[in-house]
Amino acid sequence: MSRPDAVVVGAGIAGLTVARLLSRHGRSVVVLEARDRIGGRVHTDRSDGTITDLGASWIHGIDDAPLFDAVRGFGMRSVEFTVGSYQPDSRPIAYYGPDGRRLDDAGAAAFAADVRDCDAHLSRRIADIGSGTSYAAAVEETLGAVGWSAERAERVREFLHHRTEEQYGVDARDLDAHGLDDDETLGDEVIFPDGYGVLADSLAVGLDIRLGHFVSRIEWGADGVAVHTDRGVVGGAVTVVTVPVGALKSGAIVIEPPLPEPVAGALGRLEMNDFEKIFLRFPEKFWDDDVYAIRRQGPAGAWWHSWYDLTALHGTPTVLTFAAADCARTIRGWDDARIVGSVLDALRDIYGDAVADPTQVQITRWQDDPFALGSYAYMTVGSTTADHDVLATPVGGVLHLAGEATWTDDPATVTAALMSGHRAACSILGRDIPIEDLWTPTQ
Ligand SMILES: Cc1cc2nc3c(=O)[nH]c(=O)nc-3n(C[C@H](O)[C@H](O)[C@H](O)COP(=O)(O)OP(=O)(O)OC[C@H]3O[C@@H](n4cnc5c(N)ncnc54)[C@H](O)[C@@H]3O)c2cc1C
Repeated sequence: MSRPDAVVVGAGIAGLTVARLLSRHGRSVVVLEARDRIGGRVHTDRSDGTITDLGASWIHGIDDAPLFDAVRGFGMRSVEFTVGSYQPDSRPIAYYGPDGRRLDDAGAAAFAADVRDCDAHLSRRIADIGSGTSYAAAVEETLGAVGWSAERAERVREFLHHRTEEQYGVDARDLDAHGLDDDETLGDEVIFPDGYGVLADSLAVGLDIRLGHFVSRIEWGADGVAVHTDRGVVGGAVTVVTVPVGALKSGAIVIEPPLPEPVAGALGRLEMNDFEKIFLRFPEKFWDDDVYAIRRQGPAGAWWHSWYDLTALHGTPTVLTFAAADCARTIRGWDDARIVGSVLDALRDIYGDAVADPTQVQITRWQDDPFALGSYAYMTVGSTTADHDVLATPVGGVLHLAGEATWTDDPATVTAALMSGHRAACSILGRDIPIEDLWTPTQ
């Protein structure tokens, strides 16, 4: 292929989606990927006989969800796991209070009701303000208005802060109050026993994907684009750049002429977060059966507050916990043993000697990943939800940005990556095409 119709930068879900759709609609496409693998932040590790999703795990809501249609279309198996969006009570959760004792059913229900009550007030408060207020400040205003006791308010405050950290990997003081506006979960959530990576593998079939091609410069103009890699230049009619916001802002890719407004401004207001996953596999379960998650309240849960029981995936007793914001930044300089020791101290504070040493541990290092520089983007204070879509404004008719950060409806997700890839394909083709074209067999 001498000069492809489209040069796609990045073989994550956004890049693979746009490439597959364009190619199915008769366009020649080359995908350039810096890593030696596809999938980007959808990364299933299959070492040591285990299947572990080191990047995305969940579809956060399967109702009216093209992503769920896609995974079903590709024949992927899924398992229901609904507390992935930090819900207070949609499934059984074992809450442990600040004193380490488990809350009884009435106590847990009362707490969840408080969260939902505060959340309703908070949503109304946020709807009334523009951008420029932090989520933490909106929480304080709301808690100040409900008039609860200090202890009752503190439990809800810490829940809302932890939800922000777990959903967006950022401290609530650094997130715009509107940063969780699109964090709605419609229907059950699911995870994938065979790995989310099967989605990337399915999308990639038949595409011209060039691994190990690091893109360092993109020139664009009326004649098309020239994409420079460490292994030569690929020219094309258009380019779709799907690299994460972190990679785009780091200067690793020079765009010439530079991105104009309004794209540049929107990019400036989004930042990559600090968020890591820690998987611990144990010889046997020490936690209660039939709970989806364990949560710790109070100061002891400042860092390690939530553990998700992934045992249903493969039968091995496994919990997943997250390091976010300050915790993620602090442990960045720690070795694995120190991180595991810290997590185990927190678990033993609840379960004591019942917590054996884990048989296997996996810890992600997305903050140090040069092709991601974080896990996903969040809205800094002063940004607007529209900044996501603005980022995808076509530049000069030849340069398109796509990827999780460019989709306002459900940013920071695999859904966003998929939908943004579909939008870029429609824009390049100059007409709407059904997203079902991704998975329906060709005639
Ligand atoms: C720890 C973690 C947990 C997550 N959990 C969930 C979840 O449960 N559910 C959910 O929906 N989402 C989750 N996400 C977010 C989700 O993974 C991402 O939103 C989505 O995968 C992003 O896809 P993308 O195509 O936009 O970007 P990417 O997957 O990052 O793809 C971009 C590609 O560009 C490549 N690239 C970068 N720089 C260059 C360069 N200079 N030259 C060439 N190639 C380059 C990268 O290597 C990468 O392959 C999670 C992410 C992480 C990291």
